[in-house]
Amino acid sequence: MTIRPCEICSGIDLELLHRQHFLFPGLSSPVHYDAVTCRACGFSFASEIPDQSALNQFYQDSEHHLHAELPPGLKRIHADFFQFVREHTPLQADTRILDIGSGMGHFLGHFQNAGFNRLLGMEPSPAAAALARKIYGLEIRTATVDTFVADERFQLISLCGVLEHIADLHDSMAKIDALLRDDGYLFLAVPDAVSFGASPPAEAFLEFALEHINFFSVTSLDNLLSAVGFEKVAVISQHNDFYDNHYLLAMYRKVAKSGQSFRVDDEAADSLRRYVALSRQALRPVEELAAQLEESGEPILIWGAGSLTSRLLCDTRLGKANIRGIIDRNRNLQGKPLLGVGISAPESIVDHPGATIFIASTTYAAEIRNTLINQYGWTGRIVSIAPGATQT
Ligand SMILES: [Zn+2]
Repeated sequence: MTIRPCEICSGIDLELLHRQHFLFPGLSSPVHYDAVTCRACGFSFASEIPDQSALNQFYQDSEHHLHAELPPGLKRIHADFFQFVREHTPLQADTRILDIGSGMGHFLGHFQNAGFNRLLGMEPSPAAAALARKIYGLEIRTATVDTFVADERFQLISLCGVLEHIADLHDSMAKIDALLRDDGYLFLAVPDAVSFGASPPAEAFLEFALEHINFFSVTSLDNLLSAVGFEKVAVISQHNDFYDNHYLLAMYRKVAKSGQSFRVDDEAADSLRRYVALSRQALRPVEELAAQLEESGEPILIWGAGSLTSRLLCDTRLGKANIRGIIDRNRNLQGKPLLGVGISAPESIVDHPGATIFIASTTYAAEIRNTLINQYGWTGRIVSIAPGATQT
């Protein structure tokens, strides 16, 4: 765990905005990162990131949502991204295009549909890469920005939902720059940090997920890109219904590197401060519920061993409750301990007939409740943190 200097101005005078704790399966004690803002340029990011070994453990287990058939909301996001790229770049059918972090190939699939024929994906997850080859017949290399080599440079490189995860931003951008032709274009899509504090979050502190370590605004994105030698073509902030947040869609063009100068970002840190305050408010009823569960001492099964449970175990008194089991459908997690309690498959709830089930999900709480009652015939108490749904 080390202080991470600002990736834009190398500043180390950092203001702490929030310390986020994490606990995940297989890890004996919680880890944390600090959401900070650079006092020199205003770039906001996570410093004191957990060691790579802890992160590897996390990535190994958190099997990214591999679905061949995309939910409609996600499909629309990719269509919007594609539309934006078409509007702002002169592309021909034989334009050489590289999608970094291509996942299951859904974004490249739009190019393929439109008749583009020189497409390449780069994807670190072998499982996702295999799905992209199977669904679309795309050429995908299993690689990271560090290990990737190409014999020819590209006219367009895209990174959708990638830059917010990258720890060594400056070095990675330099490598990506070298893969682009001198007149090449760069398309980026990242969460818009300026929107985080705009309205109360459905789930407290969700934006401070372990894998989200850069919080970009239009200004800080511009600062990062101009330092590497890119000029802005267009940037928009677009609401995304599926995740209920805003994304920045940005197109940049490669130009000669100019002298390094930056504009101070005075928006992102303010937004994050509001976000922290709103998240604390949103957490209050959950804290009360957790305190009740601790006091009653009733046996509890937690449904869900994901990031929400991880945060609640650290941020509330839930970890002090009489937890008898943690349930998760993800087979990678089953058998692993979380806070000393084993994770098991949903079928194991029959071993705890008198327990209270705590549903750790906001989005899927109603669906899980239905499954419990209709599929598993559960007649015991069910509580959840979804607003207005704490009783059976
Ligand atoms: Zn800075």
